[in-house]
Amino acid sequence: MAKPRPGQPLSERETRVLWMIAQGNTCKMVARMVTPRVTENTIKATSHHILVKLGASTITHAVFIALTQGLIGTHADCGDRAAYMRHRRRGETACAKCLIGKAEWDRDWRARSVQHRQECRQGPSQRAA
Ligand SMILES: [Zn+2]
Repeated sequence: MAKPRPGQPLSERETRVLWMIAQGNTCKMVARMVTPRVTENTIKATSHHILVKLGASTITHAVFIALTQGLIGTHADCGDRAAYMRHRRRGETACAKCLIGKAEWDRDWRARSVQHRQECRQGPSQRAA
């Protein structure tokens, strides 16, 4: 593993490990859950990298930072518009990760709408094949 630097984004693996820790799993439990299986010390090293990258003093602090910045969600499947809608149906406040995912979807939808309107105005003969 490369030496972590403050402000560096979490890797996919670090994000997954942090989410498992946020669910109440110890490093020993996470070591048994990830594939391929690793040692508890590997997970402890990963946790240290997470602390450095997020500028957190404890793993609890790291979970708080990651939740409020939308790096992890409150459910395993958080992060897109569908997950945002699931929060709404359950009567929950959407997590930051889902709010970011929905904002991205809205931005893409608006861009697609503008493109669609432009294509309709041009008519079928002017459309690119
Ligand atoms: Zn969510």
